[in-house]
Amino acid sequence: MEYVLPAILFLIFVAAVYFLPWIIAYYRRHSNLLALFLLNLFLGWTILGWIAALVWAAMKVPKLELGVPLTNLPTQEAERMPCPSCGESISVAAKKCRFCSGEVNSGPSGVEQWQFRPKK
Ligand SMILES: [Zn+2]
Repeated sequence: MEYVLPAILFLIFVAAVYFLPWIIAYYRRHSNLLALFLLNLFLGWTILGWIAALVWAAMKVPKLELGVPLTNLPTQEAERMPCPSCGESISVAAKKCRFCSGEVNSGPSGVEQWQFRPKK
């Protein structure tokens, strides 16, 4: 019985190593997560298949496939506030409104939420 716990831990460790390509792909939000999982599952026992899955997981990263603008990604809804000048929803960390380019004084300073240059 004294070998049960080490055996379980060893199995978890082996499984974690075996599915390492899939884990990497999962945390990188891989675009072909299911296909990579299947490749990892069925060909992972061959060293070549495992390496291929690992390389694949490291290579292809989706480029904003959900259509979310880059400027909106780091900003959560809770971090937004209405612009005092035009009322549009802007980041609380913004120094300048991106809609009316008016100065915004409230909120934490020193954080550049986006690189926006208003048209003149
Ligand atoms: Zn504004």
